[in-house]
Amino acid sequence: MSQNIFVTRSSMPEFDEYIDEIKGMWDTHWLTNMGPEHNKLKELLKDYLGVPMLDLFTNGHMALELSLQALKLQGEVITTPFTFASTTHAIVRNGLEPVFCDINPKDYTIDVSKLEALITDKTCAIVPVHVYGNVCDIEAIDSIAKKHGLKVVYDAAHTFGVTYKGKGIGSYGDVSCFSFHATKVFNTIEGGAACFADAEFGLELYRLKNFGIRDEETVDGVGANAKMNEFCAAMGICNLRHIDEEIEKRRLVVERYTERLGNVSGIRLNSIQPNVVTNYAYFPVIFDEKLFGTDRDGVCRALAQHGIGARKYFYPITNTFDCFNGRYDANLTPVALHISKRVLTLPLYSELSLADVDRICDIIISCKI
Ligand SMILES: *Cc1c(COP(=O)(O)O)cnc(C)c1O
Repeated sequence: MSQNIFVTRSSMPEFDEYIDEIKGMWDTHWLTNMGPEHNKLKELLKDYLGVPMLDLFTNGHMALELSLQALKLQGEVITTPFTFASTTHAIVRNGLEPVFCDINPKDYTIDVSKLEALITDKTCAIVPVHVYGNVCDIEAIDSIAKKHGLKVVYDAAHTFGVTYKGKGIGSYGDVSCFSFHATKVFNTIEGGAACFADAEFGLELYRLKNFGIRDEETVDGVGANAKMNEFCAAMGICNLRHIDEEIEKRRLVVERYTERLGNVSGIRLNSIQPNVVTNYAYFPVIFDEKLFGTDRDGVCRALAQHGIGARKYFYPITNTFDCFNGRYDANLTPVALHISKRVLTLPLYSELSLADVDRICDIIISCKI
């Protein structure tokens, strides 16, 4: 009997562990608005992620959107289209103009050799994405940003627990935003965090997640409601206890995929970067139709016929979205366009059995012509 396999499966603690964590709420009746679970998770995460300061949000998108708002930016923001809708929408919803830089074909992060040419006198910030858990060229981005006086806000949604040169990935840039969505390596059901080092910025951000309220009688910011509730924080506290085992199990899955697919011609795998401790967040595979014989869509269909849900992640790229009515030219980001038509993200989660990995690989290899 073979069950359907989805691209991901949310990590959950044992039922009793979660019940123990939320029991106290039946005494306090404190369900949201920065309660004890929220504050406990905040401290635990600061420690685990190795960041100077951090605040929690209802989701990763609001962490990003409100971080851009708290920086009081105006004008153009350089980013990449090879990402989830959230990155581009966070920019546009702040009334900022996204300027799309291409990605490099090696790790799919922003191509720093093409970045500087896009800077104008209107540019205010760079929003790079550590896509699939791959770390951007942090040094180059930092030096370009310093030279031109730009803010750097990392979309770190994929890089929970990743370190670069021994430091938590969230400690780079002016702000780094994580997502704790159910589908991510670490989840709080829905949730997110922004990491930063500037206390003043942190205060502004804190107000924006609570309607812009300064004190009981002063509302001097047009904020939103983006507070993490106690049930989500409790889920995070439980999941954090097991995160290292979860990542280790993911590593075994990735190792098996790599063993089985690493030497198949026409298939390109993601490689582990130097100086990076990764979290094995995603397993993107690039299919070269000329060498492999079947294109990405063909492989995706074959897997679907066997009840296996691989994802065309990220396709389409954000600069082609219908909501932008042809405003951006995807031919200006040719590498992102090329990769988006050939990439397939294979199922990857800690409980995925190696037998299932083998089954998935057998189907993929059977597509080779
Ligand atoms: C998941 C994700 C987000 C948004 O996170 P949510 O918690 O779902 O709001 C932002 N950027 C990227 C690249 C993501 O994958």
